[in-house]
Amino acid sequence: MTQKNRIPYKIYLEEQEMPQSWYNLRADMVNKPAPLLNPGTGEPLKAEELTPIFCEELVQQELDMEHAYISIPQEIRDFYRMYRPSPLVRAYCLEEKLQTPAKIYYKYEGNNTSGSHKLNSAIAQAYYAKKQGLKGVTTETGAGQWGTALSMACSYFDLDCKVYMVKVSYEQKPFRREVMRTYGASVTPSPSDTTDVGRAILKEHPGTTGSLGCAISEAVEAATRNEGYRYVLGSVLNQVLLHQSVIGLETKAALDKYGIKADMIIGCAGGGSNLGGLIAPFMGEKLRGEADYRIIAVEPASCPSFTRGTYAYDFCDTGMICPLAKMYTLGSSFIPAPNHAGGLRYHGMSPILSQLYDDGLMEARSVRQTDVFEAAEKFARVEGILPAPESSHAICAAIDEAIKCRETGEEKTIVFGLTGTGYFDMTAYEKFHDGQMENYIPTDEEIAASIARLPRLN
Ligand SMILES: *Cc1c(COP(=O)(O)O)cnc(C)c1O
Repeated sequence: MTQKNRIPYKIYLEEQEMPQSWYNLRADMVNKPAPLLNPGTGEPLKAEELTPIFCEELVQQELDMEHAYISIPQEIRDFYRMYRPSPLVRAYCLEEKLQTPAKIYYKYEGNNTSGSHKLNSAIAQAYYAKKQGLKGVTTETGAGQWGTALSMACSYFDLDCKVYMVKVSYEQKPFRREVMRTYGASVTPSPSDTTDVGRAILKEHPGTTGSLGCAISEAVEAATRNEGYRYVLGSVLNQVLLHQSVIGLETKAALDKYGIKADMIIGCAGGGSNLGGLIAPFMGEKLRGEADYRIIAVEPASCPSFTRGTYAYDFCDTGMICPLAKMYTLGSSFIPAPNHAGGLRYHGMSPILSQLYDDGLMEARSVRQTDVFEAAEKFARVEGILPAPESSHAICAAIDEAIKCRETGEEKTIVFGLTGTGYFDMTAYEKFHDGQMENYIPTDEEIAASIARLPRLN
């Protein structure tokens, strides 16, 4: 056996090695992420202003900048055990293909029916809703991954789940919709005539195919109008990054088990939840001065919040009803081009990651869609997994870094997050194979126009 083969292809953790607490990175941040503001008063939001919309315990987690470890309730750990720990895979075949001295590992979150990491937070949010005695939750979904994950979580805890799905996705992705209905969720194409805001939009734009902003507005209205319902969100928020820290904690435990030290950690960034979760314990070490890592966020060139956005207070939704968050943003009126990585088409970025990036603690880069699919295909052909377009942004950057290692001869250890599978994205692959995929890149003028419309705070 060669030295190399002593690390198994898949590093699993034993059940007793799985994390018992989530790690709250904010506790170790010197510069804390800026607080959410009430859009009406411009003052920081208090817990009591948030509890009519969000579950009580989740509001506590949202505002908690202090406690480093928050214990994972046994009921959630029991659910995690059904599909976790997720494997940390040594990409031996990809290394071979690239002829690189780099050692590449990926943390694979596609091993559950929803096909992505989103279930890690969905199950936590459903649990706290159930614990509060609620009847159900409402949410929006664009591409469908979050709605799918939430419907699975709600059926487990016997909660009602109302999903507002952007009409164009509802029509174009009937299979995602049916997965949600299999788990008992009600799926309404948005805009709909079930809410005031939906009816108003339909009246003004009768043929509209909907938008995420509009679906958020409908879901929030449905939560506040229906007794016993609250609204839940699948990314961006601090609580979501907290739940997703399970990804990073498992990754770190697996690496430590074999004495492996990562040099760089790479993840795709839409709202920042998988990346925030993956890097959490590593960034914690970096903040405490115990270790150093290069941390790289990868975003689409069509929606470049980090690399071309502005760090400012902005609305979280295009409907401008949600709280203001300080984040790297392209402006809530920015309409990303129809990139196929639906999960990365968000105008803003997690306030936690935004602060870390502003403090120079992590890097960001943007990649073009055709390069992403080229990387996706290369990966699928050697590693066997057909990756989600979102995840393939991380693959693309990891391959670029591995090729740099080939050129310099450096044996760097690269860890990246493989957030999910791409089975529901075959139309995108089809476009790529047919040579019909385009690279949309916003002009400086387009970005400046939406930045000019950022809310002004007095
Ligand atoms: C939603 C999604 C993402 C992006 O969301 P983040 O909050 O940035 O992690 C990435 N990959 C997959 C598979 C997704 O479903």
